[in-house]
Amino acid sequence: MSDTVEHVECLIIGSGPAGYTAAIYASRADMRPVLYEGLQPGGQLTITTDVENYPGYPDGIMGPEMMDNFKKQAVRLGTDVRFGMITKVDFKKEGDPHHVWIDDKKEMTADTVIISTGASAKWLGIPSENKLNGSGVSACAVCDGFFYRGMDVAIVGGGDTAAEEASYLSKICNKVYMLVRRDEMRASKAMQHRVENAPNIEILWNTETDEILGDMAVEGVRVVNNVTGEKREIEVKGFFVAIGHKPNTDIFKGFLDMDEQGYLITKPDSTKTNIPGVFASGDAQDKIYRQAVTAAGTGCMAALDAERYLALKGLHHEVEA
Ligand code: NDP
Repeated sequence: MSDTVEHVECLIIGSGPAGYTAAIYASRADMRPVLYEGLQPGGQLTITTDVENYPGYPDGIMGPEMMDNFKKQAVRLGTDVRFGMITKVDFKKEGDPHHVWIDDKKEMTADTVIISTGASAKWLGIPSENKLNGSGVSACAVCDGFFYRGMDVAIVGGGDTAAEEASYLSKICNKVYMLVRRDEMRASKAMQHRVENAPNIEILWNTETDEILGDMAVEGVRVVNNVTGEKREIEVKGFFVAIGHKPNTDIFKGFLDMDEQGYLITKPDSTKTNIPGVFASGDAQDKIYRQAVTAAGTGCMAALDAERYLALKGLHHEVEA
């Protein structure tokens, strides 16, 4: 190993709730963590508005402010937070030290690596969706559905997420239009039955989004039936996209076990991956819950797992007096 290669005990990749919670615990365990923020410092919560379901904030908090608080807490406890993107890794099957490269340039080695790179919502990719994102367009019904209580909304997708979110929305909204692009859903039968049985969910089959309507906020959606070509406009105030998420795990391919969608696979009841010393937390390994609070929980678990790993290997160095 060259003298110029920086070595750390604990490297954390990603700056969402999982990454910062791992950083808080790792700092308090004197692991002197270095955290790289990635492309979107603060993660997915920085693109939401009010967060009302994170415990401890009785009046709610804005997503960006909450993530700033996470960061301040991690920094105060000693985390070295750096701007930069891990672009390449070389994880060793036999364990540490693991090699990573930052922004295709700087090389580092680490005894433990905590992956909290998160996931990104997939979007339709039409201009009106981008223009009205945050002004009625959302990819998270659990985060934003509450703002449309009593109103009419639309949700795109036919998978388990769309069905689950449509069902959630149906309990708080007046009416939910579910836009499904085929004549059948991908969702499990149980989830399909749930949406079919909700009196205020109308499923529009073979239906795609032509345009989301509105200048400053969503006022409706123009949909097109992809069999007949017929277009129609529906008045809605909220437009939810639930067409899947993509975990940000591409750079770990070939090193870490992942499922067919790219979610990292961890050992039961732990955050351990198939590589000793590499741990996974947050949305990069969780396709079911995907909440800030569950991500924070697994971030905590990853730091505790990393601390135990270092202790067992005798790699944990006491901080000099
Ligand atoms: P999926 O990939 O399962 O489903 C995506 C859905 O979006 C499909 O209906 C797909 O249509 C549709 N879609 C994709 N692209 C477009 C587009 N451009 N325009 C319109 N529709 C589009 O993603 P999910 O997020 O629903 O689920 C991901 C995984 O997580 C699954 O394995 C699921 O089972 C699991 N999950 C489990 C839950 C649970 O058990 N409680 C809850 C939520 C998710 P098409 O079918 O035509 O491709």
